[in-house]
Amino acid sequence: MKEDIRNLIELQAIDLEVYKIDEQMAQGYSGIEQRRQEIEEAQNTIAEYKEQLELGEKRRRELETTIEDEQERIKDRQTKLMNIQTNREYQSILKEIEDTKQSNKQSEEELLLLIEQLEAMQNKIVEIIKKCADEEAKLSAENKVIEDEAVKLEAQKSKIIKARNNQAEKVDKKYLKRYETLKERRNGLAVAGVTKGVCQGCNMNIPPQMFNDLLREDAILSCPTCNRMMYHKSEEIDNEE
Ligand SMILES: [Zn+2]
Repeated sequence: MKEDIRNLIELQAIDLEVYKIDEQMAQGYSGIEQRRQEIEEAQNTIAEYKEQLELGEKRRRELETTIEDEQERIKDRQTKLMNIQTNREYQSILKEIEDTKQSNKQSEEELLLLIEQLEAMQNKIVEIIKKCADEEAKLSAENKVIEDEAVKLEAQKSKIIKARNNQAEKVDKKYLKRYETLKERRNGLAVAGVTKGVCQGCNMNIPPQMFNDLLREDAILSCPTCNRMMYHKSEEIDNEE
């Protein structure tokens, strides 16, 4: 029985190492994924700005054409003014010139404002493009590191898996099945140490009589709370780790 317990403890230790490697790999990839998403978002923002910029440029050309046309119209009216017969007609054309000048002034103000906005937008686009390029450079460097790391971790993992399979063969079949089921249902931890009467898997106390039974190590007991297979883990062992 003691042998069975030792074998299970060892198997659990190896599986936790495998779990740690898997976690390390996943962490590396999730960092990469996050950066990739940030770049994608930035690229979307650039596309949006470019669309706005295009609309702005279109409006700018419209305004420029309007202003030119109106200036032509003013010139035309001013020429006409010289050949006028009646005072009434003269006043009417004069008013037309004034009105046109007024509306042109508004167009010019709008144009100036628009030019400022378009410039700011262009600067913003340049800034984001630069940031994107920086991020992409970082991403490809990180990718390289992660891939190198993954190769190492994979090699490490396959070594551990081999040891794991050897260890699993040592474990009695009936315990192994229970172990695998628990491992799946209990986040990878099937075997839990009990220190000072507390199960380290779920942090709950076990009944004192059960703790005494546990110390005798003549059966593999399950935690009444989390159902994990238990063993007695003294504090000294805890400090060594
Ligand atoms: Zn427990």
